[in-house]
Amino acid sequence: MTARTHDVFAFASLITVAVLRPPESLTVLTLFTSVVGNIVGALIPDMDQATNRLWDLLPAGNTLGKIFRRAFFKHRTLSHSIAGVFLIYKLLEWVMPRIFNAEFVDPTIVMWSIMIGYGSHLLADSLTKEGLPLFFPFDMNIGFPPIETLRVTTGKWVENFVVFPAVGIYIFWFVVKFQNELADILKLIT
Ligand SMILES: [Zn+2]
Repeated sequence: MTARTHDVFAFASLITVAVLRPPESLTVLTLFTSVVGNIVGALIPDMDQATNRLWDLLPAGNTLGKIFRRAFFKHRTLSHSIAGVFLIYKLLEWVMPRIFNAEFVDPTIVMWSIMIGYGSHLLADSLTKEGLPLFFPFDMNIGFPPIETLRVTTGKWVENFVVFPAVGIYIFWFVVKFQNELADILKLIT
């Protein structure tokens, strides 16, 4: 899937989880950092592509990206597997409380927002023809639906004119249906 589709998928997942498991408290900074973290989380798995948008944000990012990319055998390996999810979780668990002052930004909420973005990326990619190497380093690609021809080709019309608008419609439907729950979450803001 393209970065744009991953962004909307991540946001749809974030608001869904927020309604299912609302936070107990929320600050403006936590909310803002979580939304940004969610989008970043959705782009992390494709950092093994030198052209990834995250690399553009860094000075000399494309050169760094090319070097970093060589550390991977090919696109979609470790970063798209259960092992990758576990590693990123452990890394964030260690890093988040060290970069955020818990008084202003809740590191747990931000960490879960990033993980939701990351997880939504894998979910979206499982709908593509390539499937997911979930059990990397074992060579077994998982996809939904299991029949490859029924799955989506990245960047082609089904993604742009079916998947992308469908997620947009879902977000709209969800916000209308759960507006009270979402308002309750916003009321937590201090
Ligand atoms: Zn991907």
